[in-house]
Amino acid sequence: MKKNEITILGAGLIGTLMAIYLKRQGLEVSVYDKRPDKRQKPYDEGGRSINMALSHRGWKALEEVGLKDKVLPIAIPMYGRKIHDEHGGTSFIPYGKVNQAIYSISRGKFNQLLAEEGERLGVNFNFEHKCVNVDFRNQEITFETEQGESKIIASAIIGADGAYSALRMSMQKQIRFNYKQEYISHGYKELTIPATAEGEFAMDPNALHIWPRGKFMLIALPNPDKSFTCTLFLPFEGTKVCFEKINDDQDLESVFKTYFDDAYQLMPDLKTEFFKNPTAALINVECYPWVQGTSILLGDASHAMVPFYGQGMNCGFEDCSILNGLIDKLGTNSWSLVFEKFQKKRKPDTDAICQLAMENFVEMRDSVSDPKFIIRMKIEAKLHELYPNDWIPLYSMVTFSDMGYAEAYAQGKLQETIMNRVMADPLITENWNKLDYEDIIYKMETSKAV
Ligand SMILES: Cc1cc2nc3c(=O)[nH]c(=O)nc-3n(C[C@H](O)[C@H](O)[C@H](O)COP(=O)(O)OP(=O)(O)OC[C@H]3O[C@@H](n4cnc5c(N)ncnc54)[C@H](O)[C@@H]3O)c2cc1C
Repeated sequence: MKKNEITILGAGLIGTLMAIYLKRQGLEVSVYDKRPDKRQKPYDEGGRSINMALSHRGWKALEEVGLKDKVLPIAIPMYGRKIHDEHGGTSFIPYGKVNQAIYSISRGKFNQLLAEEGERLGVNFNFEHKCVNVDFRNQEITFETEQGESKIIASAIIGADGAYSALRMSMQKQIRFNYKQEYISHGYKELTIPATAEGEFAMDPNALHIWPRGKFMLIALPNPDKSFTCTLFLPFEGTKVCFEKINDDQDLESVFKTYFDDAYQLMPDLKTEFFKNPTAALINVECYPWVQGTSILLGDASHAMVPFYGQGMNCGFEDCSILNGLIDKLGTNSWSLVFEKFQKKRKPDTDAICQLAMENFVEMRDSVSDPKFIIRMKIEAKLHELYPNDWIPLYSMVTFSDMGYAEAYAQGKLQETIMNRVMADPLITENWNKLDYEDIIYKMETSKAV
C-alpha cells in the first residue's frame, strides 16, 4: 500500500494553502479531493459563494507564503458598506479608517491560483478521490475513485474537507467526540447584477452593497468582469417574505419591486436565475477534539460558521498560519504534539468567531439601517481616532487586526456595554459630537478593572 508523509483531504482554499505552507517547510505533501480538476473538467459550483471578502488575517497568511502580490491583482477593495434603503436612497458607512478595506475575490480564481502555486512547489494533487473512511489505528484512508476503492497510509492526515468533512465523520465514531451543528432559519441564493451595456459597473465597485430589510437582506460584491454577485438571504419559511412563498415570476417580482427595487432594475436575468440557482442552507459546526492521534481537522471541517462576519476563509487561513508557526517551533518529529498544541490554542478563538458570525447577522440585516447605528459607528470611530490603543471597534479588531478572536469578543462585549449607556441618552443624535470622550475611555478602563 502507498505510504504518504502528509496527506491533506480537501483541495479547497484551506487545504491548498496548508499544502503550500508544508511544502515550504520542505515536507512531502499529497492532497486528495472528491471533485474533478476544474482545469480539465470544468463544473458548476452549484450555487456556492462565488466571491468572498478577504481581510487582514487572510492577507497576513498570503504574505507569509509570498503570495500577496499575486493575489492583489484579482481582488477588489471595498472600503465600506453602501446601504440601500427601500426608496432607492443610499448611504455609506466606512469599514474602518480611510484606506482600510476588505477585498472581494472570486472563489474559483483564487482556489486555482493557490492550486497552481502548490503544483509549482511540488504538491501532489489527486482529484476525483472521495475519502470515505479513516482508520486511525493504522492511519489508513479509504477513497472511492472511478477505478474503485483505493487505500493509502499517511504519517499525518489533515482534514480540510469542509463543513461536511469525512475525516470528522470518522472521528465521530470514536469515543468522547463532541459535535454540534445548527442550521439557521435562513438560506441563501446567488443572483447577478451584470455590467452595464457600456461594460461598466452598475454601482460603486468599491463598496459592499447591503439592502437591509429587518428579517432578511440582499448583499452584492463586485467582480473583476464588472458584474456584481448578489446574495439574497431569506428565511426558508414561516414569514411574509420567505423562499417558500416565492413560487412564480409574479411572487418574485412583487418581493423585488417592494423591497429591492433599485437592484431589481439592474437584474435583467433575475427570473431565470432565481428559479435555476439552488437555495442553499447555512450551517454552524462546532466540535472537539479536532485531533485523533496524528490526524487533525482544519478550516470549515473543524469550525464551519455562518458567513455574516466574512471570516470563514480568513479564519481558516489563520489556522494554517498558526499551525505552520507551531511546526516552526516544535519541528515535525511529533505530529501529535504539534496538533495537540494547535487545538488547545485555537479552539477558544474559533468558538468566539462562530458566535460573532451569528450575532453579526442581526447587525447586517437590521441595525445598519438604523440612523442611531450610524451615530454609534461615528462615536466609536472618533474614540478610535483619539485613543487608538484603548478603543478599537469590534469590527476592526476582527477584520483589520490579528488579535485573538476570543480577546476581540471579550473586549467587544465590554465596549458594547459602555456604548449602550452612551446611546441611552435621548439627545444623543444632537449631542454625539460634544461627548466627553476621555470619560468614556475612563469608564471602559475602570469596568475592565472590576
Ligand atoms: C454564502 C457564503 C459566503 C461566504 N463569504 C465569506 C467571506 O466573505 N469571507 C470569508 O472569509 N469566508 C466566507 N465564507 C466561508 C468560506 O467559504 C469557507 O470558510 C471556506 O471556503 C472554507 O474553506 P475549506 O477549504 O475549509 O472548505 P471548502 O471550501 O468547503 O473546501 C473543502 C474541499 O474538500 C473537498 N471534500 C469534501 N468532502 C470530501 C471528501 N469526502 N473527500 C475528499 N474531498 C472532499 C471539497 O470538494 C472541497 O474542495 C462564505 C461562505 C458562504 C457559504
